[in-house]
Amino acid sequence: MIRLLRLPASSSGPNQHGRGGGLHGPPPFPRTTLFGMASRSGLSGHSPVTPERSDFIREIVAADVREGRVTEVVTRFPPEPNGYLHIGHPKSIALNFGIAQEFGGHCHLRFDDTNPIKEEQEYIDSIQADIRWLGFDWGDHLYYASDYFHQLYDWAVDLIRAGKAYVDDLSADEIREHRGTLTEPGENSPWRDRSIDENLELFERMRAGEFPDGARVLRAKIDMASPNINMRDPVLYRILHATHPRTGDEWCIYPLYDFAHGQSDAIEGVTHSLCTLEFEDHRPLYDWLIDNLPVPSRPHQYEFARLNLTYTVLSKRFLARLVSEGSVRAWDDPRMPTVSALRRRGFPPEGLRNFLDVVGVGGRGHSAVEIEMLEHEVRAVLNRTAPRRFAVLRPLRLVIENFPEEQVEEMEAVNNPEDPSAGTRKVPFARELWIERDDFMEDPPSKFFRLAPGREVRLRYAYFVTCTDVVKDDSGEIVEIRCTYDPETRGGDARDGRRPKATLHWLSSEHAVPAEVRLYDRLFSRPDPGADGDPFADLNPDSETVLEGCLVEPALAELPVGETVQFERLGYFCPDPDSTPGRLVFNRTLGLRDTWARLQGRGAGP
Ligand code: ATP
Ligand code: MG
Repeated sequence: MIRLLRLPASSSGPNQHGRGGGLHGPPPFPRTTLFGMASRSGLSGHSPVTPERSDFIREIVAADVREGRVTEVVTRFPPEPNGYLHIGHPKSIALNFGIAQEFGGHCHLRFDDTNPIKEEQEYIDSIQADIRWLGFDWGDHLYYASDYFHQLYDWAVDLIRAGKAYVDDLSADEIREHRGTLTEPGENSPWRDRSIDENLELFERMRAGEFPDGARVLRAKIDMASPNINMRDPVLYRILHATHPRTGDEWCIYPLYDFAHGQSDAIEGVTHSLCTLEFEDHRPLYDWLIDNLPVPSRPHQYEFARLNLTYTVLSKRFLARLVSEGSVRAWDDPRMPTVSALRRRGFPPEGLRNFLDVVGVGGRGHSAVEIEMLEHEVRAVLNRTAPRRFAVLRPLRLVIENFPEEQVEEMEAVNNPEDPSAGTRKVPFARELWIERDDFMEDPPSKFFRLAPGREVRLRYAYFVTCTDVVKDDSGEIVEIRCTYDPETRGGDARDGRRPKATLHWLSSEHAVPAEVRLYDRLFSRPDPGADGDPFADLNPDSETVLEGCLVEPALAELPVGETVQFERLGYFCPDPDSTPGRLVFNRTLGLRDTWARLQGRGAGP
């Protein structure tokens, strides 16, 4: 998609609908209860409900409906299939699908496939999968801008006939030179006053493939002195001898975004065309084209603020570079800020939707939302829904000397203390166990309450054990802890009421299943990557740590991809698609520690 030069936002007049305040203030609307949130009603299969919250866009839509300007609300989400969706896109998705559902209308998915050079079927497929995963559904309303190439061509001819478009022979560089600047008007092209007949003939020959790429363009004839650079005879069509994923070699001229977008909206009967603020300066052109073409309906464009997040870069072009330059493994590498990466990493879509609810629509906020807020919403969902399991990431052998050699006991473990209906499961317990290496210190400092020589701790859902000895290898490294257990403490309580200061997770050595565990940290090491120039320089070298030789409880061997569990005391984890029955691989979704509350305390967030 080619974007023309923009005027500063202030020069195109105030945005009547803008809301000040940015995204750092308190959320504009209180959190509603878990169910029945307005934006939740945009979910597939849910029936429309009365909006429970409002924002400046919903207010506009509501007024249009109330005052009879619109009978059926139609919105659209219009991705260009030139990359995977990133975390910013769901803001637009939730807004467009949410509004359609709330007002009993519908939302179209329209691929803006006007640039065959950068667009691929892989992206079309991934975008659809991502929207579905987020919980939204376009029903029968799947469209492509390329469906309208014939109609758009005919309308371009109409503009030429009306003396409102002309074929320009200037090169792209010359067009730029003639365009003027923010302070100086542009200059007319020497080809601007061609006759209508000559323009018609040349445009037809452009279409017929008679000219090479870049030789000529079709431009609207508006005003080279307009204070809005987008109105200085914008390019409508360019020559591109490229095979299109859908129309093949039928076309060698392609409409630009500005010529395709509003007209596609009009063809589809879109009533509210919601886009991000960088298109605000394109709105006069959007309206000019609608006013000057015999379009079947009158859509209106409204702008809202892009979502930005700290520690994150949201630009498909940049994300594509991370992939092509090997900084990450793929578009869905769990460190990427793409929707498919979040899915792979085990983020529940509900967490993302709740985050978007809290962020709200925001008219003019350019500041970045803190990523901890997203993590907080994701943890809130996972805390409620994720089954608890045992896993040991850095194993240390523990032998219970007074526990019978062959004996295996089944310990009853609670699946989710937040959800009694999740029930319990049996975890095998035996004489030889694995515990976390970090949970033992031979010479502990005063604040360390976990296992140490002579000390008693609780093994969760099992017994109290007391460390009696430490076994080391030749190099002095601890390889085994010897303990005794108190058979009177089965289930984790002592009759005499004594309470160890620590409760550890554990696995039976014989029953534990080996796994690889991938720990993820932020992809960038500073909150504003690229602020000093190159975001590549701000990549966090430790964004991924792969642990081999981890161990997990037997039930986890069957956990399907797409489900996230809590490894007790360690964080939230999910199987990676790389996982096979013979070689389990888990991703850390998030650690347990929620820093959002701390940030709030510091006054850094809402
Ligand atoms: P990028 O600049 O990352 O490539 P884009 O705007 O070019 O993004 P499109 O595929 O053209 O991506 O966008 C589809 C829709 O998603 C557009 O309506 C766009 O305004 C919206 N969108 C893109 N990024 C964001 C964001 N960060 N926050 C909210 N909406 C966004
Ligand atoms: Mg784009």
